[in-house]
Amino acid sequence: MSYKIPLFDLNFSELEGKAVVETLKDGWISTGPKCLAFEKQFAEMLDVKHAVSVANCTTALHLVYDVLGITAGDEVICPSLSFVATVNAIRYLNAIPVFCDIVSEDNLNIDPEKVEKLITAKTKAIVVMHFAGFPVDMDNIMSIAKRHSLKVIEDACHGPLSEYKGKKLGTIGDAGCFSFFSNKNISTGEGGMIVTNNKEVESEIRLKRSHGMTSMSYQRASGHSTEYDVVTVGYNYRMDDIHASIGIVQLNKIQKDLEKRAVVRKYYLEELGNLGNLITIPFKKNTEFVSNYIFPIIINNCTKTKRDEIRNKMHSFGIQTSVHYPAIHSFSIYKRFSQDIRLEITEKVVNSEITLPMYSKLTQKEIKYISKCLQQSLK
Ligand SMILES: *Cc1c(COP(=O)(O)O)cnc(C)c1O
Repeated sequence: MSYKIPLFDLNFSELEGKAVVETLKDGWISTGPKCLAFEKQFAEMLDVKHAVSVANCTTALHLVYDVLGITAGDEVICPSLSFVATVNAIRYLNAIPVFCDIVSEDNLNIDPEKVEKLITAKTKAIVVMHFAGFPVDMDNIMSIAKRHSLKVIEDACHGPLSEYKGKKLGTIGDAGCFSFFSNKNISTGEGGMIVTNNKEVESEIRLKRSHGMTSMSYQRASGHSTEYDVVTVGYNYRMDDIHASIGIVQLNKIQKDLEKRAVVRKYYLEELGNLGNLITIPFKKNTEFVSNYIFPIIINNCTKTKRDEIRNKMHSFGIQTSVHYPAIHSFSIYKRFSQDIRLEITEKVVNSEITLPMYSKLTQKEIKYISKCLQQSLK
């Protein structure tokens, strides 16, 4: 079915196509100069020392967890309210996910107070996910991590260019991971980026990204080296120059795109104000510059059945919606890691959340229509 108003719309023009054709004509299509240029521009925009492009964010998370020393049996404190890749990558290393609740229906991010209570002698790291691009309370997370000598990984997939007290998300912990999947703020089809200020972490990531080989084909082809050694068991997690050339075009557009999204959010706050205490709009008091990756709302006093009925009504009005997310700890494969836990707020939110359309081309008129339809659907 095609919707009158989709959940998301690609911010693509003829420029992305042109960039791809140029790369194809250049003749170097695997990891090479376009990846390097994309990495450089990304690092500059985030004011971070190093950026390494990868095939997608799932590989980014795997590499970062691995390089930061997470290994079999280690406990990693993580949100359950995230995309499953955040946690799957913990399992790639046979480490143990320890699910932590969020702050409230108003703040859908992991709760530092609850994080600290979950720390044991086995805890190795904390993974945070900045929901919809709104910052986790990083001051508290970083001071807890420091007190207990833990690594901090930011799953910043929702938040390119989002800020926390003047710093860009992804650059505050030991490393940050980004996705350029088609429906993200920056879209290349598949793609990802790792950022870090730690030179050793960067070198180790570059090594493991490409089979553990000490040089890459592009370096050899351009005469910088003729031989290579293999010094660790690595992977092939590289991005290629075709995707990177799309990424460069997307990076040139993102600041404007985010500014427009901020206006879309403002329209939503104005229009949905009429719904009084029927809904909660998370992060309503946020004043930071954020990516507005998605626009989540919580239906107050809701059940899963009622929420799904409201979504069906919205769809019949031609408006696409989504749910972010089903709780990871409830998935069959993760039940054995969640037997003794109660994530009260997460469990409430996953049954009452609806994600409304969010993209920069949305007009005030369309937001008015969405709000009117929501009002109807809530009846
Ligand atoms: C999209 C997403 C991922 C996975 O990214 P891929 O590039 O598709 O592997 C991980 N975590 C979060 C929070 C995401 O939104």
